[in-house]
Amino acid sequence: MPELIASKSRLEDLLEWIPPVPDNVVVCVRCSHVIADAADTHEILGSVEHEFVNPYGVVHHFRCYGHALGCATKGRAHHADTWFPGYRWKIATCGNCDDHLGWFFESSDSFYGLLTAKIVTQSLDARQ
Ligand SMILES: [Zn+2]
Repeated sequence: MPELIASKSRLEDLLEWIPPVPDNVVVCVRCSHVIADAADTHEILGSVEHEFVNPYGVVHHFRCYGHALGCATKGRAHHADTWFPGYRWKIATCGNCDDHLGWFFESSDSFYGLLTAKIVTQSLDARQ
């Protein structure tokens, strides 16, 4: 029976690891793919939301999240033109439809910046 006891302990470990189900989720505007827990916002430089102009003159308004499991990231991380000193960035896309949703900012406390025009917050209940 030692194996069964070991398995039960492992199951309990796994159950503790599963995060609580969020009340509200962030979804992709184009395809409704769930991107992040709406409550998992990330503050940097004193704010959760930021507006920056890229080197091409395009204004980007985005909200920061600690995790975005529904995103995929593209290519190598870049130091050039970063909006957050000490952070490298990668393009973040929807993991389902591949639309550009924002950026993954990489450092000791990495986070995602998701374009407010490309995401919408929904109640998880409304999706069922
Ligand atoms: Zn999508």
